[in-house]
Amino acid sequence: MEHDAPQTSALAAGLKARCPRCGEGALFRSGLVLRERCERCGLSFAFADSGDGPAVFGILILGIVVLAGALILEFKVGPPVVVHVIVWGLLTPLVAFFLLRVLKATLIALQFKHKAEEGRLAPPD
Ligand SMILES: [Zn+2]
Repeated sequence: MEHDAPQTSALAAGLKARCPRCGEGALFRSGLVLRERCERCGLSFAFADSGDGPAVFGILILGIVVLAGALILEFKVGPPVVVHVIVWGLLTPLVAFFLLRVLKATLIALQFKHKAEEGRLAPPD
């Protein structure tokens, strides 16, 4: 991993979906697909492997937001069921996509900052 000290915080890089080293180049080519390298500083994103982390955190956060929203809407307004289907049917995928993008970028920035790599066996003495 080409490693220099990050010039931005992991949270800022994650929220803006930017390169974890320079904080300026875009991290994603489209949607949730990573670019091969940073267009500004040339950092290769081959090291980036956030695994299932963004999905796990996203499910937990999204579950709380959608359940709380549905309960509040039901008990404050009491709309027909079709309103719940429309509101939560539209909002849930949109919030899930936004959360996945932010969480994936943040976990990659944290991986870069803490130099987290796959474990390797030490060479024999
Ligand atoms: Zn960069």
